[in-house]
Amino acid sequence: MYQGARAMNEEFQESEENVMEKIKMTTPIVEMDGDEMTRILWQYIKDELLLPFVDLHTEYYDLGLVHRNETDDRVTIDAANATKKYGVAVKCATITPNAARVKEYDLKEMYKSPNGTIRAILDGTVFRAPIRVKGIEPCVKNWKKPITIARHAYGDVYKSSEMVIPGPGKVELVYTPEDGDESRVLVHEFQSTGVVQGQHNLNPSIKSFARSCFNYALDTRQDLWFATKDTISKKYDHTFKDIFEEIFEAEYAAKFQEAGITYFYTLIDDAVARVMKAEGGFIWACKNYDGDVMSDMISSACGSLAMMTSVLVSPSGVYEYEAAHGTVMRHYYKHLAGEETSTNSVATIFAWTGALRKRGELDGLDDLSAFADNLEKACIDTIESGKMTKDLALITETENPTVLNSLDFIRAVRSTLEGFYL
Ligand code: NAP
Ligand code: MG
Repeated sequence: MYQGARAMNEEFQESEENVMEKIKMTTPIVEMDGDEMTRILWQYIKDELLLPFVDLHTEYYDLGLVHRNETDDRVTIDAANATKKYGVAVKCATITPNAARVKEYDLKEMYKSPNGTIRAILDGTVFRAPIRVKGIEPCVKNWKKPITIARHAYGDVYKSSEMVIPGPGKVELVYTPEDGDESRVLVHEFQSTGVVQGQHNLNPSIKSFARSCFNYALDTRQDLWFATKDTISKKYDHTFKDIFEEIFEAEYAAKFQEAGITYFYTLIDDAVARVMKAEGGFIWACKNYDGDVMSDMISSACGSLAMMTSVLVSPSGVYEYEAAHGTVMRHYYKHLAGEETSTNSVATIFAWTGALRKRGELDGLDDLSAFADNLEKACIDTIESGKMTKDLALITETENPTVLNSLDFIRAVRSTLEGFYL
């Protein structure tokens, strides 16, 4: 038993019936339920790890695809607005429909990605960091500390317009100002078939990306790296570089110096090379696409997508916590067929602990924040004791690990957690 837990334990032993009093909450967390295997895990986590310990106070939104379809996706917008109101949300993984899903769920339309809808409403930056446990070492042996990816969550290729060029002809970019003369640049004089893409971003969004990164670096006392391809993209990427530089100099340089941390800009290819040689322990800010790709690289090098935390931080200081992986469809169909699954719930548990800890911080509820720390520690201790799901058993250096099914892993975490409290 470690210190925070011991203090809490003594308190409970002093209570008359010697039964654990549930930890109180004051403000609700916005709870967004989701789909498939992660929806099953969601309920297990609540039943086994949260409700027995916390007087859980949430405002529930069902973002499962069935209910999104019933509400014409209104529920996603309502959940994002509630997140703005309360400041902290936790989200289960959800299906982003494609043609097959439209058929499978008999959807009225091919709804947009819920994460896309939520990010468009909240704006901001997604921070992703690996959850490190002993026995599962990164493939990159010099990575001693986690590398946190800060992914810009707006624009670029994710909000681009594309065209297939069927044959010879001219493609131009045309800007038609609300008042004034239009301007054009030639993209290409096609002599053959080809493809073309128009991307955009917005200075206000880039500014809030920069501020979210600088604030998160100060919050977590880690250096911040940022990289783009400004040597090739002299206007587009250069704008990102300039905005970061201006905001850093005007608003953050002194605070960084005081905190003993640094801001470092380099080219994206140089950043990739340096990351492979680095020790970790810093935040790597990436444009939207780079962040998408690089967070998958970092998580798979550290073991598993299921061992990665993910939080969207908006410029107004709103936090939405989720797992970085999807709904684990393949496992869900096994589950439906009555077969046993061994799906890793750690990232989903850490989404809950992130939200509970933040709620505790904002509302001054120390025992709620301590509970979040304890639950995270219970997950890590359980895995380090050799009990884990199949994905981790396949890569661990621990000898003879015990492979547990989805529910038994959660129950093993509960038993570790009870050891801290009872
Ligand atoms: P996925 O859920 O990320 O799973 C892909 C594979 O990765 C799984 O089949 C499994 O491999 C492994 N895996 C991922 N998470 C795991 C976990 N927690 N424990 C153990 N293994 C895990 O991707 P998908 O199945 O291709 O996508 C399913 C749905 O998720 C899609 O409809 C997609 O739209 C959605 N999605 C949602 C989000 C989100 O809401 N944030 C993000 C991405 C995707 P094995 O099968 O080899 O065991
Ligand atoms: Mg990705």
